[in-house]
Amino acid sequence: MKALVLEKYNEFVYKDVPDPVIKSDEVLVKIMACGICGSDVHGMDGSTGRRIPPVIMGHEASGVIVKTGSNVNIWQPGDRVTFDSTVYKLNDWFTLEGRYNLSDNREVLGVSPGTYKRDGAFAEFIAIPEHILYRIPEKVSFEQAAMVEAIAVALHSLNTAGVRTGDSCVVVGAGMIGIFILKLLKISGASEIIAIDINPKRLEEAVMAGADHTFVSTEVNIGEKTFALTNNRGADISFEAVGKSESVSIAIDVLRKGGKIVLVGNISPSINFPLQKVVTSELKILGSCAIRGEYETVLKLLETGKIHVDDQISAVVPLSEGALWFKKLHKKEDAINKVILVP
Ligand SMILES: [Zn+2]
Repeated sequence: MKALVLEKYNEFVYKDVPDPVIKSDEVLVKIMACGICGSDVHGMDGSTGRRIPPVIMGHEASGVIVKTGSNVNIWQPGDRVTFDSTVYKLNDWFTLEGRYNLSDNREVLGVSPGTYKRDGAFAEFIAIPEHILYRIPEKVSFEQAAMVEAIAVALHSLNTAGVRTGDSCVVVGAGMIGIFILKLLKISGASEIIAIDINPKRLEEAVMAGADHTFVSTEVNIGEKTFALTNNRGADISFEAVGKSESVSIAIDVLRKGGKIVLVGNISPSINFPLQKVVTSELKILGSCAIRGEYETVLKLLETGKIHVDDQISAVVPLSEGALWFKKLHKKEDAINKVILVP
C-alpha cells in the first residue's frame, strides 16, 4: 500500500510499504479521510519528541472496513467507521475503572514516543482492534467523521469540568480544540463565553464559534476585564488549550474564588505556577487527557446538525500531497484550519 512516511524529522516520503496484517480481533480499514493534527505538525519537526521517525502519523481518521479478523462478529466489510485515537487494553485496571484514556501500556495511533511505535492512518489501510471502532451515521461524511477525534477531545474537557447551564467560561487559546470547546460551550448553555488568544484573527473565528467577548492575550488587566463581565467575581471555569506559562497564568487570573481550570494544552513539559493564588482562592486544577468515550455523542451532534464542522475544514487533498500541506501548516500560513488527506 501507499503511505506518507515521516522518514526523518521534517522529511516525508510518499512510498510503498507492506500492507498491515490483522489479528483475530482486528479489522482492516480502508482509509477515506485523515486530518492533520497540530500535534502531528509539532511532531514532524521533533519538537515534542512524540513522533520519532520513521513513522506513519495520523490519528483523526475515517474509512470503510474491508476485512475482519476471525473473532470479529459485529463488524462487516462495507461498514463506515471512525475509531478512537487511543488503542487500549480491555483487561487493564484503569480501563475497568472506566478510565481507558489513562490505561497502562496504551498506544496512540501514529505516535512513536520512544517507548512504542504505532503506525497511523496516513496510509491506504490500517489494522484496528474492533473495540475502538464507532459506526458513522449515514448523514455524516468521511471528512466530517475525520473531525470527530478533535471535537471529542474538546468534549472530554467539558465533561472533565462538569459544565452546568449558566456557567461563565473562559477559553484561552482559539486553535482547533479551543474553537470546538467554544462551540460545545454554546450548545451546553454557558452564560458568558469569553475567548482569549494571541492572534486577533483567531478571535474572529472564536466569535463565529460562539464567544460573546474576546481579549487579545497581550492586553493588560484581562483578569479585571473578565471580572467586569462576570458579576465582579470572575469566571466559573476556564479552559486552557495552549500549554504555556503565560496562557495558564491568564486562565488562572480570570477565575473566581473556588473556580475550576481545565488544562488541555500540553506543549510544555513544565510551567511557572502561581501557587499562592491557587491555594488562597481554593482553585480546582483539572487535567483533561484525550477522549473517554465521547465519540458516540459527537457523532450524534454531527448527525443531528447541532454542531458544525465544515467551517473548520480548509482543504481536502490527496495523501500524496501531504508533505506540502504539512509545510504550509508548519509555516502557520493564515486561514488554514484543518487539512484532510485522502489516500
Ligand atoms: Zn490530534
